[in-house]
Amino acid sequence: MKELQYLNKYFIKYKYHFLTGILITIAAQIFSLFTPKLVSSSFKVIEEQAGKSGSMASDIVTQTLFHNILLIIGTTLFSGFLTFLMRQTLIVMSRHIEFDLKNEVFRQYERLTQHFYKQNRTGDLMNRISEDVGKTRMYVGPAVMYTINTVIRFIVVIVFMYRVSPMLTLYTLLPLPLLSYAIFKLSQEINKRSTVFQQYLSKVSSFTQEVFSGIRVIKAYAIEPKQQQEMDALSYESKAKSLSLARVQALFGPLMIALIGMSNLVVIYFGGKMYIDGDPHISNIGIIAEFILYVNMLTWPVASLGWVSSMVQEAEASQKRINEFLKIRPEIKNPVLHATPINGEIEFKNVEFIYEDTGIKALSNISFKVGKGETLAVFGRTGSGKSTLLQLISRLYDVTSGEVKMDGTDLRKVNLNDLRQNVAVVPQDAFLFSDTIANNIRFGNEDATIEEIIESAKLAAVHDNISGFTLQYETILGERGITLSGGQKQRVSIARALIRDPQVLLLDDCLSAVDTETEETILTNLLSYCRDKTTIIVSHRVSTARNADHIMVLDQGNIIQYGTHNELVDQEGYYKELWLRQLSEKELS
Ligand code: ATP
Ligand code: MG
Repeated sequence: MKELQYLNKYFIKYKYHFLTGILITIAAQIFSLFTPKLVSSSFKVIEEQAGKSGSMASDIVTQTLFHNILLIIGTTLFSGFLTFLMRQTLIVMSRHIEFDLKNEVFRQYERLTQHFYKQNRTGDLMNRISEDVGKTRMYVGPAVMYTINTVIRFIVVIVFMYRVSPMLTLYTLLPLPLLSYAIFKLSQEINKRSTVFQQYLSKVSSFTQEVFSGIRVIKAYAIEPKQQQEMDALSYESKAKSLSLARVQALFGPLMIALIGMSNLVVIYFGGKMYIDGDPHISNIGIIAEFILYVNMLTWPVASLGWVSSMVQEAEASQKRINEFLKIRPEIKNPVLHATPINGEIEFKNVEFIYEDTGIKALSNISFKVGKGETLAVFGRTGSGKSTLLQLISRLYDVTSGEVKMDGTDLRKVNLNDLRQNVAVVPQDAFLFSDTIANNIRFGNEDATIEEIIESAKLAAVHDNISGFTLQYETILGERGITLSGGQKQRVSIARALIRDPQVLLLDDCLSAVDTETEETILTNLLSYCRDKTTIIVSHRVSTARNADHIMVLDQGNIIQYGTHNELVDQEGYYKELWLRQLSEKELS
């Protein structure tokens, strides 16, 4: 229960639901006890009048029975109504808590850094927020409700029974511990098998998910039969687990009936014996009927105890996993709450960066400076550290040693929200949401009007493509809609960055899938758009660097060349080779 204590704050938050629920439960239980009492009194009247003859006696019996039946119907309906209210308060409370907890977990996910996402698989993260929160809800909802219900019913029923006959009460309660133990054991077994079954289910679903997302590769390589075999094996196993679960589940009902039957027999045998022996507490046969009803009222709550305890165990395990995530503190924190204006002067000072999880040294001894409004073009072989460099500027990672400065201040002392607000990134692998094109662009600036969206799309040279779609900017992308080509995706992603109107624009090889002509258009557009913005552009094409103030060449995390285009074409090295190669390609084409 240690982990579940975390949820106490929610019980406090919803204390009125909780307390009302308890009061209603007490009332519902008291009302449900009228039935055994009325049955008992009916038997009593029948027994008393049975000896007598004449129409008088039969009239009395009919009248009393009619009266009692009406009362039983009335009180049962009312008790049913109260039970409905009990669910309305307690179960509704649990839904509120579930909602709050899901939001809390989601907020925490958003706060955590890339490092966290590399260490945890998506499936796992999804499970925390759906399955684990769902199991926790079973604790705050049904488990708490049944426990309250059981405890109150026990107290009320036993008080009622005790007042009639202490001795018979004892006999009646005798089989109950056996019942609860048997049910507990069975629930444990059910739980164990159901966990295994769940594991298989999630294996099947992650397998299918991967097949669906990789369907193009699977078809292209014609490996459908192999995938089918794997799927068959997985579903065969999960069927076996499901059958083994069904077998123990099937025992539950018969076991309950057998145990209830046993308790009934105990009451009939001992109650009957006490009645024959003239026990003063069992003055009429109706009391035995009353007790049989009590036993039946107690059996379900006792059975539910086993079930509740396994629910609580599961919730404890789930909450433990949730707490582990909630406790993680993001490594990248917002250091200052006051606003820091961002102008866009960027400086690296002896920066070294090592990816913690792989130990790869992606950057070493990097120093350079880009003034406000200047443009830097970054070149280098694949894996040389270009993307890493850009990620350090938007502070997706913190440097291992050295300093990255914005307007002369260490990034770790700059307001993170202001920084990210003023630095727009076009990542190397454009990511678009399954939403309309307009919304995908608006993502860069929530308040943007459609005119502004069109304006950015024009700058990114993608407006003509979008206009060609039937629904234009309202075209849905992704799974439910159309798939854009690689180059179109890149340009929508550029439009998203431009609409933000940032001080710093980081373009990570985002023109790689665009033909040279379109690239020219975009670069020309950017030239006027970026006049007062600091721009860093990663590229493999020399043409991109045409207007850059500085050019940097990276190799294995080190700067091997730095200067202007004219300076670098005069030096032997990577840049000159690239330039010559691309120049001759251009002449050939
Ligand atoms: P490309 O031109 O292919 O995009 P790049 O110059 O952008 O290459 P980076 O992505 O910065 O290269 O990678 C630099 C080095 O860091 C590589 O050796 C790469 O394997 C490693 N690396 C990149 N991202 C990560 C990461 N998230 N975790 C661990 N190592 C990484
Ligand atoms: Mg890269």
